[in-house]
Amino acid sequence: MRDHHDIVIVGGGVIGLTIARALALRGMRDVCLVERGNLGTEASWAAAGMLLPQVEADKAEEFFNLACQSRDLYPGFAAALREETGIDVELDTTGTLYLAVTEHDHEEIEKRYEWQTRAGLAVERLSGIEARELEPCVSASTLGALRFPKDIQVENRRLLSALANSVKKHGVEIATQTSVASVLLDGNRVRGVQTSRGAISSPTVVIAAGTWSSFIKTSPESPIPTIEPVRGQMVCLEAKPRLTRHVLYSPRGYLVPRQDGRLLAGSTSENAGFAKCVTAGGVATILRNALEISPAISDLPVVDTWAGLRPRSSDGLPVMGPCGEIDGLFCATGHYRNGILLAPLTGELISKAIISS
Ligand SMILES: Cc1cc2nc3c(=O)[nH]c(=O)nc-3n(C[C@H](O)[C@H](O)[C@H](O)COP(=O)(O)OP(=O)(O)OC[C@H]3O[C@@H](n4cnc5c(N)ncnc54)[C@H](O)[C@@H]3O)c2cc1C
Repeated sequence: MRDHHDIVIVGGGVIGLTIARALALRGMRDVCLVERGNLGTEASWAAAGMLLPQVEADKAEEFFNLACQSRDLYPGFAAALREETGIDVELDTTGTLYLAVTEHDHEEIEKRYEWQTRAGLAVERLSGIEARELEPCVSASTLGALRFPKDIQVENRRLLSALANSVKKHGVEIATQTSVASVLLDGNRVRGVQTSRGAISSPTVVIAAGTWSSFIKTSPESPIPTIEPVRGQMVCLEAKPRLTRHVLYSPRGYLVPRQDGRLLAGSTSENAGFAKCVTAGGVATILRNALEISPAISDLPVVDTWAGLRPRSSDGLPVMGPCGEIDGLFCATGHYRNGILLAPLTGELISKAIISS
């Protein structure tokens, strides 16, 4: 590990990796990414890879526009990664079905259909029967559905492999098994980071350490906002042949079909501190909600379970850009439920902000 770099990025999840790649593509030749464990093994690995800004939005606001922008960068992002690394990130553009099973769900999807149609967004309204014609595995109790043709999914673990490959090819120095304890300052200016393997001097530091971001020490009054973990558990089923082509979503759960026959059922949202474990109650909740979407999963084998910690800021919105009053310090954290979705745009925005600073 060299002891000086032009830019140091702390955290090797989807956010740190995407920023490192974006900086390299913009001609930054001396970037170092420091990761406490191995690249891409935390929240970014645990995610479902859904890119669903429209499904989840009940009004057009700034965050919604950014999320749509990022989703729309995905086809180019995936193609470029394939070109650079040969890895197919399995961007699946079939779309998403948002199912209404209760009367309340039905009222909600009607509202969503109304505002999104008025806003000129792509959304189709289906009856319960039409939803079942499209995906026969959907519950016979489905009252209606919305089809979002532009809300798609990516295989996030393949995405992480592609990003890791890409940054190595672009000459980013990677220091794994290396933990950053603090940001070193000279008055109000960054001068580097203190790691478990010694100091690295650098005029620019990006904090992309997910839910652990606020543990990194800076000045006594840390400018890094408090980020808290929200645990999400997942259950992986095996569906060969595939049960559904669309992502199936309800207000209580979702099913995401992967090309290799895995069918991901998610998730929970729990304030359980940093306990990254799978619980009996979590699995029971996920399976109950998944069975409500599709009773046809009942006979499928459960092949895996896991949990991850979503990084949430106090208002639930991502924290991106220059950090506090400290020159050279940038934050890219708090992506909460949408870090995979927001990664390409975060890479663009943070790399531009650094280069123009
Ligand atoms: C169950 C589940 C399902 C999800 N589904 C989706 C989805 O469908 N779509 C979507 O867009 N998002 C989804 N998310 C959210 C998404 O996973 C996160 O928003 C995203 O992964 C955050 O990326 P990150 O790089 O900030 O964090 P992480 O992936 O957690 O990476 C942070 C990295 O920083 C490292 N680190 C921490 N502290 C230090 C330190 N001091 N020094 C060095 N390194 C450090 C960690 O080891 C880690 O590798 C889901 C999350 C979960 C848990």
